[in-house]
Amino acid sequence: MSTHYDVLGVSRDATSEEIKKAYRKLARKLHPDVNPGEDVSDKFKQVSHAYEVLSDPQKRRVYDTTGNENGTDNGFGGGGGYAGPGFAFQDIFETFFGGGGGQAGPASRVRRGQDALINVRIDLKDAVFGANKKIEVDTAVVCPTCDGSCCRPGTSPVTCDICGGSGQVQRTVRSILGQVVTAAPCGSCQGFGTVIPDPCNECHGEGRIRSRRSLTIKVPAGVATGTRIQLGGQGEAGVAGGPAGDLYVEIRVNNDPTFVREGDDLHATLSVPMTAAALGTDLKLETFDGEQEIAVKPGTQSGEVVTLKAMGVTHLRGYGRGDLKVHLQVETPTKLDPAQEDLLRQLAGLRGEHSSEGKLVTSGGMFAKLRDRFGNL
Ligand SMILES: [Zn+2]
Ligand SMILES: [Zn+2]
Repeated sequence: MSTHYDVLGVSRDATSEEIKKAYRKLARKLHPDVNPGEDVSDKFKQVSHAYEVLSDPQKRRVYDTTGNENGTDNGFGGGGGYAGPGFAFQDIFETFFGGGGGQAGPASRVRRGQDALINVRIDLKDAVFGANKKIEVDTAVVCPTCDGSCCRPGTSPVTCDICGGSGQVQRTVRSILGQVVTAAPCGSCQGFGTVIPDPCNECHGEGRIRSRRSLTIKVPAGVATGTRIQLGGQGEAGVAGGPAGDLYVEIRVNNDPTFVREGDDLHATLSVPMTAAALGTDLKLETFDGEQEIAVKPGTQSGEVVTLKAMGVTHLRGYGRGDLKVHLQVETPTKLDPAQEDLLRQLAGLRGEHSSEGKLVTSGGMFAKLRDRFGNL
């Protein structure tokens, strides 16, 4: 695993100024807006995390002596999940967009956008093989008129007169303990230190607008209802040109009229005429892999299963596919004409089967198999 120094591309004895410079350069390069369609969020998190550690003298000292921070945690501070990284993006963007890292400086307008979630319905066949799917997404996007600057084209923010650009106003309060000076965000500029005298007309000074767009996403083979696909930087655009959140696409798989999924196996029921079940035959079945021949052996009983190997759902992780299990259902004829009835009676006579005799089947028969499958029949 590469060190935080490698990630930022600086030497072990780099000064804090060098580290900051290297970080800003990388952060700009890896900004999601600069890399549309490319997933750089992992790299970006790595860089941000390396900077988070190396920019803090105490954390850096711990890291230098133990090889990782806190002695144990070498991950990304619990990040990476749905809630996004485990540290404040706000801080990072303040650091590289303006502020200069000072705690008391003005706040940044730039804010990361929210993650977005949409549901997409697919057919079972698409879950078996994977598919490219065109989806419509409705999110905030960077305002095309001001390019996220929030200002009308040709204008720019100006320093706030009230706070002189610090974003804070100080008040002296008299109390029993004497005079106390408190600092509060400047009401005139909302703490930003600048005001926008001429906001962009299109986005009303927010730097982003709502828009509907089409995206083609790759649905991997093996997804199931509830699977989420994460698309880095395709969520809501941030405020004032801040990076976009991620887009999560949650999959719903439509029920199929023929095939039922159980894990990565598929199940189908194939009806077999009584005579074919007795004599044996080959039956055709239309599967997701095209027409297949099912060998029905002579003397087939209702409930027997023919397994077609590797014709089920593709495993989402790893290689290979589940099986297709074809449950044979023997059809007893219901409408017999006199000639057919006569033939069957003759057959029964030849076989010595008398209609008044039934035989109790001990456990292990078809019923037991069904009971095992469904639990409580
Ligand atoms: Zn605008
Ligand atoms: Zn102000």
